[in-house]
Amino acid sequence: MSLSKMLNRVANEMAFERGKPFSNSDFGNFVRRDLVQEAKRHLSFWPFDLELKASVGNGQWAAVPWLAFFDPLITTTATKGFYVVYLINAQDNSIFLSMNQGTTAVYEEFGRRRGREVMKRRSIDMSDRVADLIQSFSRDPIDLGSTEDLPAGYEAGHAFGKRYASSMLSEDECLTDLREILHIYEVLVNRGGLTPSDVMASEVQGQTIEETRKLVLSQRIERSSKVRRAVLAVKPPKCEACGLMPEIDYSFDGRPEQIPLDVHHSKPLFELAEGEAKRYRVPEDFLVLCPSCHRMIHKMDNPSDLGALKRKIRFKHMREVY
Ligand SMILES: [Zn+2]
Ligand SMILES: [Zn+2]
Repeated sequence: MSLSKMLNRVANEMAFERGKPFSNSDFGNFVRRDLVQEAKRHLSFWPFDLELKASVGNGQWAAVPWLAFFDPLITTTATKGFYVVYLINAQDNSIFLSMNQGTTAVYEEFGRRRGREVMKRRSIDMSDRVADLIQSFSRDPIDLGSTEDLPAGYEAGHAFGKRYASSMLSEDECLTDLREILHIYEVLVNRGGLTPSDVMASEVQGQTIEETRKLVLSQRIERSSKVRRAVLAVKPPKCEACGLMPEIDYSFDGRPEQIPLDVHHSKPLFELAEGEAKRYRVPEDFLVLCPSCHRMIHKMDNPSDLGALKRKIRFKHMREVY
């Protein structure tokens, strides 16, 4: 079954399936497994890392089933960050493709009523940041046919997207729109996501907004726990500049992912045009550095030049003997 047919099926059958028991539901398995697999199949050559997840509820039926696409640099869960998602209105069987936000984390911080106001504001920021790219999508509010808290959050968190009336989603339109909105998602990530411009400027000092955005993205890549784990899994636990080995030099014996070493994204993003190919490769684009060497390399003219950093190092370690 094609992706559009599957989505139409979810939209058409959800209201009926909700009347049946939740556990071991064939319909639930179809959404969680088959729908995700089919969507993945269309993205196997997608140049960016994406994680897919679908849900019809957790322990009980949700009002709004969804299929979400996460950039792991931003989030791997629907509860926080921002992501692309199909949302189903089970009342009128319509489907929404939406650039949306995690609701739960915002509710926890601000409460429900105020949280929705916060999300509405953020959704305007998101749309404005990619305003030049969203002509084929609509910024109009969406109606998910439910007054429950989560759907109300999805409605508030919706930035831009498209509505498909019951059974009107064709395969062509489905795949074209999906690829386009995923491309915009990546551009939004590249442009700083939901981070306000003044915060980006204070985090990194780029000459231009483009440079600031690339520095922020580079930092996001370095701080991603997924990237860090992947790099440390294949590189030795040793600073590549000064040779510090926390396991020997500090008798560090904690869990490998807690070792006091950083991963440094040494391939500058400056060479990449916006939205071009892969943003990083593990491990080729990374250096393992101790926190001091990491700070130092970022202060150098060329933060990729490991040799230059190594030539600067002149400290001597003298163990005092009492
Ligand atoms: Zn070092
Ligand atoms: Zn770095």
